[in-house]
Amino acid sequence: MPVEDYSRVLVKISGEALAGSSKQGFDAAVVDFVVKEIGDLRDDGIEIALVIGGGNFYRGNVFAAGAEIELPPSTADQIGMLGTFINALTVRDSLIKCGWDAKIVSKHPIEGVSETFLASKARKNLRNTVVICAGGTGNPLFTTDTAACLFGIELDVDLVLKATKVDGVYDADPEKDRDAVRFDVLTYNDVIQNDLQVMDLPAITLARDYQLPIVVYRMLDAGALRRIIRGGKGGTLVSS
Ligand code: UDP
Repeated sequence: MPVEDYSRVLVKISGEALAGSSKQGFDAAVVDFVVKEIGDLRDDGIEIALVIGGGNFYRGNVFAAGAEIELPPSTADQIGMLGTFINALTVRDSLIKCGWDAKIVSKHPIEGVSETFLASKARKNLRNTVVICAGGTGNPLFTTDTAACLFGIELDVDLVLKATKVDGVYDADPEKDRDAVRFDVLTYNDVIQNDLQVMDLPAITLARDYQLPIVVYRMLDAGALRRIIRGGKGGTLVSS
């Protein structure tokens, strides 16, 4: 796809990224940075949906067998999904405070917090507001990466941008292995066959089945989102 066609995108941000170095809750500077990067894209006329994880509060696996508090996986994951609403509310109000419109939608609405996600309505809303898709897929046993692909497909976005700590996909962890090699482009099958850490398998197979391109990029790289969307430069592109 020509780069100028990236006019509607979905950005996936992990909850943990919003916590900065503290790993829990929020780092105000990081939230501010993310909000400004997203807002700048809105000023450029890009339609933006957001999926924010919940890892800065709870991941379902903290309640797994042997944990201090052991819960059935479905309950644990419901707690995990609730964390995504906390992040959505925080980012929505931060966007609004800076002058950009934003609204929260979810598969299962929480009255007073989110509206029911309807793809056709959300696509229309994207013209003048950032649409934050909270609550994951609405099902336990999934992740917000899968939700990002699911919402991305339903919203017919041109691209999913997955924000990470590093500037793309490597053949090893670049923070641990100085010889790790970075890929510019990968196919979905490269990711699956080599078990590369892009997104979990349900997310990648969904992207592959619906030909949804994904770019993995470094979240704290100022202007990276705009460079990728406007010029196709930066990050690792996963496509067919
Ligand atoms: N979760 C879920 N279903 C979903 C999305 C998320 O059950 O569709 C739960 C799951 O427990 C997960 C937690 O919510 O661990 C937080 O999501 P995720 O781990 O994807 O957040 P991130 O790592 O992106 O911060």
